[in-house]
Amino acid sequence: MARIGVLALQGDFREHIHTLRALGAVAHPVRLPRELDGVDGLIIPGGESTVMGKLMVEYGLDQPVRDLIAVGTPTWGTCAGLILLSRATDNALAGQPLLAALDVRTRRNAFGPQRASFEADLPVPALGDPPFHAVFIRGPAVLSVGADVEVLARLENLRHTSESNESTGQGTIVAVRQGHLLGTAFHPEVTGDPRFHEYFLGMVRGARAEQQM
Ligand code: GLN
Repeated sequence: MARIGVLALQGDFREHIHTLRALGAVAHPVRLPRELDGVDGLIIPGGESTVMGKLMVEYGLDQPVRDLIAVGTPTWGTCAGLILLSRATDNALAGQPLLAALDVRTRRNAFGPQRASFEADLPVPALGDPPFHAVFIRGPAVLSVGADVEVLARLENLRHTSESNESTGQGTIVAVRQGHLLGTAFHPEVTGDPRFHEYFLGMVRGARAEQQM
């Protein structure tokens, strides 16, 4: 059975743990570096990336998490977690720590205060039909992606402020995958639709199978 650690310094880690357990995975909160021992996958939840980043450094978790990612452990960031995983974020606070693992540039709070929270039915070809009901809570946008990054979903109606959008009208990128790294700008853990968690557990199974070969 897959063992998934969920970073539990701040934010909505409980909902992730709940969804993973409902799918039969073993999931536990991670607050200390030793709680990363033996995990097959890691989730960095939504919350506030500036606070979570600082706490990660304070708790001595930033380097262990980087090491875990470097050896190929599947890691999924949702919302603030996506910001933390990203190589760069346009409007990071001065000194905001990032894990800089996923080759994307994000913009925090990209959908503006008036759109701080909204929901949208998002076509996600990797998950099949029906569209995924996505809840955005002061979420980021992905402004650009590196060559190795696969775009999993775009928000077709451009709901964000004009300066946050560098796309060509194809929609704003809100879900990406780069090998063992997954990032979603929204919150699949709050909707009761487990398909993104299943998708992530599939990545974890794939990585374990590769290790055993
Ligand atoms: N706005 C938050 C940030 O910049 C993210 C919000 C969320 O995770 N729901 O970290």
